[in-house]
Amino acid sequence: MTETATPADRLATVRATIDKAALRAARSADAVTLIAVSKTHSANEIRPLLEAGHRVFGENRVQEAAVKWPGLRADYPGVELHLIGQLQSNKAAEAVALFDAIHSVDRLSLVAALGKAMAQNGKFPDCFIQVDLADEPQKGGCAVGELPALLASARDAGLPVKGLMCVPPAGLNPAPWFAFLAKLAADHSLPGLSMGMSGDYATAVTLGATHIRVGTALFGARG
Ligand SMILES: *Cc1c(COP(=O)(O)O)cnc(C)c1O
Repeated sequence: MTETATPADRLATVRATIDKAALRAARSADAVTLIAVSKTHSANEIRPLLEAGHRVFGENRVQEAAVKWPGLRADYPGVELHLIGQLQSNKAAEAVALFDAIHSVDRLSLVAALGKAMAQNGKFPDCFIQVDLADEPQKGGCAVGELPALLASARDAGLPVKGLMCVPPAGLNPAPWFAFLAKLAADHSLPGLSMGMSGDYATAVTLGATHIRVGTALFGARG
């Protein structure tokens, strides 16, 4: 990435990398949703990607998204907003109202709050269960051993669970963690795999990612 690259250039570069990785794995690039992670970036930094035609974005904080996105959505129809960060149960109703998908469902109390919020709102965002593969509870995610019970509760509560999400440990080869998440998803007949960030999204695509969450490679470093 060069300093002079425009957001549209970066988008084209990321898309080309996805295409190549998908080809290597004999997958269709159309099966991969690129979530442009716009956390910390201002509405004016986000607009060029919207102008370039991109419509799928990710934020990690409800409050920040509530400030930035209503205006952008009014200007650019068809935006799809994904919540990728940890969610407090007391923000479940606001999250359901604001987001089209929630990637950080990771505990019973949150499942209950989301179920109630969805029933009240009549809006049912796609849900991903975040799994803590490497015993790093500070990142959020349910323990691998808790996944079957949490998944059953989520389905009982009426959450449309589409797949699993992970954030692998920093500094290690991500491939074994991505393969592990893919195995868990297959075991539970879940089609969605939210995995891969700026440093490793090509690897994630070759291992079956259906949703990649890319910030830095599109927007540059966060301040
Ligand atoms: C910030 C963030 C990303 C994007 O990270 P980059 O390295 O900037 O691509 C992806 N997933 C989660 C959960 C994040 O918090």
